[in-house]
Amino acid sequence: MQQYREIKARHQDAILFFRMGDFYEMFYEDAEIASRALGLTLTSRNNGGSAEVPLAGVPVKAASEYLRRLVQQGFRVSICEQTEDPRHAKGIVRREVVETVTPGAAYADDMLDGSRNNFLCAVHSTGTLVGIAAADVSTGEMRLVIVPPGDVDANLSRLAPREILIAKGSAAFSVEGSLITERESWEFDSSLAGTEMAKQFGVASVEGLGIDANDEPALAAAGALMRYLHELQPGGLPHLTRPKVERPGGTMPLDEMTRRNLELVESLRGGDSGGTLIGVLDRTLTPMGSRLLRQWVLAPLTDRVSIENRLDAVSAFAGNSIVRESMRTALDGVRDVERLSTKAASGRATPRELRALGDSIMRLPDIEIALEQAVAKFDGASHPLSALLGQWDRCADLGDDITRTLVDRPPISPGEEPSINPGIDTQLDEWRSLRDGGKDAIARIQMDERARTGINSLKVGYNRVFGYFIEITRTNAHLVPADYQRRQTLTGAERYVTPALKEFEEKVLTAAERIEERERDIFEQLRKRVGAQIARLQCTARLIAELDVLSALAEVAELEGYVRPEITDSFDLEILAGRHPVVERMMQREKFIPNDVNLTERARMIILTGPNMAGKSTILRQIGLIVLMAQIGSFVPASRAKIGVVDRLFTRVGASDNLVRGQSTFMVEMSETSAILHTATRASLVLLDEIGRGTSTYDGVSIAWSVSEHLHDKVGCKTVFATHYHELTQLPDELVAACNYSVDVREVEGRVLFLHRLVAGGANRSYGIEVGRLAGLPEPVLQRARALLSIFEREQIVSALGRKGERKGKDSADQLPLFGSLPSPIVEELKTLDANGMTPIEALTLLNRLVERARQA
Ligand code: ATP
Repeated sequence: MQQYREIKARHQDAILFFRMGDFYEMFYEDAEIASRALGLTLTSRNNGGSAEVPLAGVPVKAASEYLRRLVQQGFRVSICEQTEDPRHAKGIVRREVVETVTPGAAYADDMLDGSRNNFLCAVHSTGTLVGIAAADVSTGEMRLVIVPPGDVDANLSRLAPREILIAKGSAAFSVEGSLITERESWEFDSSLAGTEMAKQFGVASVEGLGIDANDEPALAAAGALMRYLHELQPGGLPHLTRPKVERPGGTMPLDEMTRRNLELVESLRGGDSGGTLIGVLDRTLTPMGSRLLRQWVLAPLTDRVSIENRLDAVSAFAGNSIVRESMRTALDGVRDVERLSTKAASGRATPRELRALGDSIMRLPDIEIALEQAVAKFDGASHPLSALLGQWDRCADLGDDITRTLVDRPPISPGEEPSINPGIDTQLDEWRSLRDGGKDAIARIQMDERARTGINSLKVGYNRVFGYFIEITRTNAHLVPADYQRRQTLTGAERYVTPALKEFEEKVLTAAERIEERERDIFEQLRKRVGAQIARLQCTARLIAELDVLSALAEVAELEGYVRPEITDSFDLEILAGRHPVVERMMQREKFIPNDVNLTERARMIILTGPNMAGKSTILRQIGLIVLMAQIGSFVPASRAKIGVVDRLFTRVGASDNLVRGQSTFMVEMSETSAILHTATRASLVLLDEIGRGTSTYDGVSIAWSVSEHLHDKVGCKTVFATHYHELTQLPDELVAACNYSVDVREVEGRVLFLHRLVAGGANRSYGIEVGRLAGLPEPVLQRARALLSIFEREQIVSALGRKGERKGKDSADQLPLFGSLPSPIVEELKTLDANGMTPIEALTLLNRLVERARQA
């Protein structure tokens, strides 16, 4: 217990799995927590003192499952092993924590998802800039991201870390579902970090890693990250790749709401990737490809040349089905080279995993041939695929080494036989032949003994307790020679040994033991040789991922009938016959109605009206998705698309609750809107769906109106605003570059027919009651609703009359003609009247006449 307490004192914030023989035991509070979290029986134990110590344990054999469950619930678990053989230990067995597993630093397959990274992030802010250091220990990938403070959330949400390190007392950054780990603030120090990073990556200074003075916030974060990882993995981090530095500007930060509303990687309903953009695009064949595609989708490019490079590469595969097929056939069956090589480098790969890595490497020449075919179509080295070919490394030496050394289907644990091929090691072959000769020898002994004793049923056998024995049935017991020594009595037989048999057994058993040891050694050497080449393997993994994504995007383009978008540096966005990539997949292809959208400097704001269910949200998202797809380098669902690169894409949908964060619907809506107004630039694309809906009509219309004015006048970005407030269809009268569009419906025999077609001009009514009827509201409710609607519509006019005098001339900034034009002849008449010169009767008659005229207007 003293040893336990000493070790526990150094791992206060983790549950300590304390190895005792075949169990990991937990004591005190750890035992209580784990028994609750895992449903284990809590017992207690008296360790000599007076107090009972709470205790819970898990068998070592089943530990990985318990570990996974604890880590998934957000706990850290430190694994304390016996680091010497108990048989040779003098006194208490030496124990050490060999690893701490946390949600952000997990290697085991059952804690990871093949199609996504498992990032651990550290965040450090200097006020003007924020640095994010991210590491995925399962793939070895490391990134340093430097962003302005406003973009932190978007970038964290793109990386989706399982765990975030922040300095104690600093502003909290959080992402749904991530564990926050507080670290001492001195750990976030860029000069300490510089030394540490230079040491880790074997360079004289961090400049050698492409990190410069402006990257300091990210470097400081990396320092804290590395220190934490070293604490978790005292054995070191041999497999981390050199960090990739991402500075502001190269990619588009997508905030969480935009990502969610466009349903990029998860649907609004939650759950898996069904009904999402990634669900449509992900036709990758390898886990590396799947992870990279996810990264691309969440970080669209903002530089025209880089986008066109990707499109060129996709075109090479899209335009040539033979090349695409041979690339995809070569990629099919390539396993997770990135995670497998990481496992090799960190000493975790099993023989079976290493062989899988070898088999995948053996497929590289086929990929290379397909890539050469693709490149052959283009002359010159300027094609982006030529650049990939230039970096290509077949890793043939490694593939040969692995597949030569390991048998085709090696066992999961090293040492279990057979994992090493014959002909690799003479010593091993010798021992094997001794042992196998041993089998022949048993047959020989059995034959000789049968001849000597005349007992034909005599058998030579083996069991773990008694070793080799000679078994003779009871009926033949009288024939047993004198040199037989009895070892065991069974119901119908006796078992014996002879000195010769014992001697033979000794030889065979040592051979078996030695073979096991030798196999383990040879495997370990192979693992080290492969692990030492981690940098090459990760580079190759990265290229495989890229080829996989590029050819998958080409495959989707071909299957779904997408076209290559034309990318420009201009403002304009022009989509001809655009479709929603996800919605169109949910219906028969020809049932989806394509629509054109044009946004130019002179017509940069679309006010989109139309009844419920008409397809406003669909078209709004479709515009966002097409732009985003183009900027990740994908073809797009349209017959033609000309896309002026956007720097940011915002999508807001009103009335979306964020109960998890404990904010009211309307509050969420307003803070999101406010973020857009502060961040959007002229080059942004803003898509607003029903903003202002979460409050009373007047408040809502007023906010929607002024937000639109601000976007139009001050920001000047491309905007599409879908709304039910027809009042907003008057905006184009005020704002020069705004125009009305609506989604068309027809009324046929009192029923609404949804045409899903975008037409110029605003809608004049909502058809909400008709949709209510479609949804089955009872007839009396519908009738009452219709009656109320006509009353409310009349009252609007009355209230507009009540605002007499508030309106100014058309050019005035305060003008707010929300509720229809006031009947100006009436106003004109009112101006001429002399109220003092009228009798009460005259006044009343006049008022009556004006009311009548107002109702008719
Ligand atoms: P609400 O105002 O009630 O939110 P909406 O106008 O935003 O409605 P959507 O949700 O976009 O309507 O579309 C309703 C349904 O209409 C979609 O789920 C889809 O099935 C269908 N739809 C939308 N657009 C199209 C289209 N272009 N072609 C075919 N079907 C479409």
